[in-house]
Amino acid sequence: MKISNRLLNILGDGSDGWDIFRKAADMVRDGIDVTQLTIGEHDIRTDQRILDAMHQATLEGHTGYAAIPGIFELRQAVAERVQAQTGEKTTYANVLITPGGQSALFAAHIAACNPGDRAMYIDPYYATYPGTIRGASAVPVPVKARAEAGFQPDAADLAAQAKNATSLLINSPNNPTGVVYSRDTLEGIATLCQTHDLWLISDEVYDTQIWQGRHITPRSLEGMRERTLVVGSMSKSHAMTGSRIGWLIGPEEVVAHLMNLSTHTTYGVAGFVQQAALSALKLGIGFEQEIAQPFRRRREIAIRCIEQSNVVGMIPPQGAMYMMLDIRNTGMSGDEFANALLEKHHIAVMPGESFGDAAAGHLRVALTVDDQRLEQALKTLVRFAEENTR
Ligand code: PMP
Repeated sequence: MKISNRLLNILGDGSDGWDIFRKAADMVRDGIDVTQLTIGEHDIRTDQRILDAMHQATLEGHTGYAAIPGIFELRQAVAERVQAQTGEKTTYANVLITPGGQSALFAAHIAACNPGDRAMYIDPYYATYPGTIRGASAVPVPVKARAEAGFQPDAADLAAQAKNATSLLINSPNNPTGVVYSRDTLEGIATLCQTHDLWLISDEVYDTQIWQGRHITPRSLEGMRERTLVVGSMSKSHAMTGSRIGWLIGPEEVVAHLMNLSTHTTYGVAGFVQQAALSALKLGIGFEQEIAQPFRRRREIAIRCIEQSNVVGMIPPQGAMYMMLDIRNTGMSGDEFANALLEKHHIAVMPGESFGDAAAGHLRVALTVDDQRLEQALKTLVRFAEENTR
């Protein structure tokens, strides 16, 4: 039997970029002690209070089908959080609860694009972006943000691709670069979207992890409310990756139509997970800051380690749980470097190439192991770079 082209083409011609991660996982299975700095997953587990709420919810009977767009109380709580943080009027009717931000990214592209439409995204990018766009039957169009420009996208580069496009996907704070888009960048993007009548899909799953500057949601910029779809998630803000809980914020009409997508794909999110999410949001902003705190601390440690080197460069991350290292001085590609570092020193980092052409010659380090182990691994990485510079 023939499998559909849509499914076969999800990855395009390339790999999904996770080869090093899988190689490291195989080594761990063989009993090798690998320092895993690849995946964006907290080293702390979901808080006991959230787990207790989840357990309690199962006992109280929240185990049947839950409301498909999300339970009213959770939609309401998310709307209040969004409104408090952005000043932008938001009600439950602007909120669709989804099984994670990934599902919201897919839903946003289904809402914005017809089959064959051109969907722009910024390179370097989170690894699933092009596949998500292809999965929605649109055509992925990367626009490079250059290392030399601190990975902030350039207005002229965007304008060059915008003419025949339907949507633009951005991500600030950014995975993999750690960049937080400036007001200037975002206002330029807002103007571009209005000039070319583009949907803006704004992935804000790292909005609680800001180390420098301020998070601005483009939905709050003039003229953007009706054309912006915001992707949110509790994976990073509440260390709830495995619970698969996130949302899409958009105009009421879009949310109403997307309920049909949920009905015919996910059929909603487990009720006990939604109850747990509700109780997690009630822990307030202080809890979110507590969850972000280790990354703030490790960012400082990482900067101190890399500053010592005149071979390895970096742009200090302004947000998110990663750091991008520039290893172009070594003469190696990110792929070569990451493979050699894993084999020789059992340290797994992501090659920049996994995140697009614009990140070639870079490495993404996830700050997701304890402080001491991180410091040790980065010192080893720097020494390895210095010893292997061609
Ligand atoms: N967007 C970005 C930029 C991410 O890094 C991730 C997860 N690593 C997601 C979306 C999806 O997260 P989730 O589906 O767990 O909410």
